[in-house]
Amino acid sequence: MIKDKKLKIYTTKDIDVIPQLKLLTEEERFDIKVVSKVFPFRTNNYVVEELIDWANVPDDPIYQLTFMQKGMLSDEKYNRIASAVKSGLPKEEIKIIANEIRSQLNPHPAGQMTANVPFLDDEPVKGIQHKYRETVLVFPTGGQTCHAYCTFCFRWAQFIGDNDLKFATDESKRFQEYIKQHKEVTDILFTGGDPMVMSYQKLKAYLEPLLNPQFDHIKNIRIGTKSLSYWPYRYVTDKDSDAIIELFDRIMSSGKHLAIMAHFSHPVELETEAVKKAIRRLRKIGVKIRTQSPVIKHVNDNADVWSDMWEEQVHLGLIPYYMFVERNTGAKEYFGIPLVEVFEVYKDAFKKVSGLNRTARGPVMSATPGKVVIDGITEINGEKVFVLNFLQARNPDWVRRPFFAKYDENATWFDDLKPALKGDKFFFEDELNEMLKTKQEQFTNLVV
Ligand SMILES: *Cc1c(COP(=O)(O)O)cnc(C)c1O
Ligand code: SF4
Repeated sequence: MIKDKKLKIYTTKDIDVIPQLKLLTEEERFDIKVVSKVFPFRTNNYVVEELIDWANVPDDPIYQLTFMQKGMLSDEKYNRIASAVKSGLPKEEIKIIANEIRSQLNPHPAGQMTANVPFLDDEPVKGIQHKYRETVLVFPTGGQTCHAYCTFCFRWAQFIGDNDLKFATDESKRFQEYIKQHKEVTDILFTGGDPMVMSYQKLKAYLEPLLNPQFDHIKNIRIGTKSLSYWPYRYVTDKDSDAIIELFDRIMSSGKHLAIMAHFSHPVELETEAVKKAIRRLRKIGVKIRTQSPVIKHVNDNADVWSDMWEEQVHLGLIPYYMFVERNTGAKEYFGIPLVEVFEVYKDAFKKVSGLNRTARGPVMSATPGKVVIDGITEINGEKVFVLNFLQARNPDWVRRPFFAKYDENATWFDDLKPALKGDKFFFEDELNEMLKTKQEQFTNLVV
């Protein structure tokens, strides 16, 4: 039997209250407070009590994953905020400095605010993104937070309470109308934040309508979530957990495929009794759990961590799906690693495991033109190159057409790469620019 656990959320104001943090020095706690002025901080009693090995702090991977680290800000930025806090500046003034720093940290990478927003009757549809033909992302209003926040989070800008940076569906259900009209869409991916922070009632309001015949074209419903890692009790002892399992069961029985796209960063997250029980409950009703995560320095930038994680996932009946490259946003300087090293992690983990464990595609960059996978590093006519491919692209015709970028051991993101083999641009560049321009014009026309 699993004992009930009641969710206790810790935010910045609790830094002096979390019992385990008493192990840190005053200075270390101050650092957490300072950095959490810029980046969103949130953790909970499950993460603190069951996942972090406090004997191993600050190196513990889950501590790095959820607690602010001084190195997440450059010295210059850190000192600006730290001295503002020390000199007791009013909250409002600290906020202005924090906002300035945030704006320098690429809060909305890969054109999410405009390039992926679809239109219905000449008006943008709030809270959905439609970048790849078959799949629409839905950002439910109630799901724009998480049970805990990852320090490296690529959606961090959504959590800092600044409405200009928020991206979520309004309640008007226009997004449902959009999906109804777009019969080419087969997949809906609920994402956030984490849709699984929503109550059963709210979740039902998003999921149930999809069972109506107008949505027969939707074959797969995916939920992107880190709840299995940060709050597995969601499926086990929360008071509406049975109702959620029942709702999922109904979706499965309707003939649609329900997939949990589970974010797992480290094998430790698969070890607790609660996560194992949650996985068993979901699998019992036929829900498929696919897993994904970026490679993050200080957390999982090591091939053994990945091979252990994939093996344990397969052992528990999960399907490794994506290995991502850390995005070019937020504390990228601290958490990012060069593409060359990410590729090594992938290759070394891949070669250690049996075929059943080799299902994760990667390393993948979710970049402006599409999902770019690094297939390899090789030499062509004496020139060292990255071999790249699109797994998904704004134009489906771009996929699986290998292209080459100059080898660059310092590159950490797609934008750093230059065409190889005397090319002056990548094959898709002109078309991409044209597509982005058209989209931009749609928005400009609105304002006029
Ligand atoms: C990754 C992603 C998807 C899903 O791609 P699949 O290859 O179908 O898993 C859909 N939309 C966006 C914007 C994405 O980044
Ligand atoms: S679970 Fe995802 S959205 Fe939530 S904090 Fe982590 S990376 Fe960000």
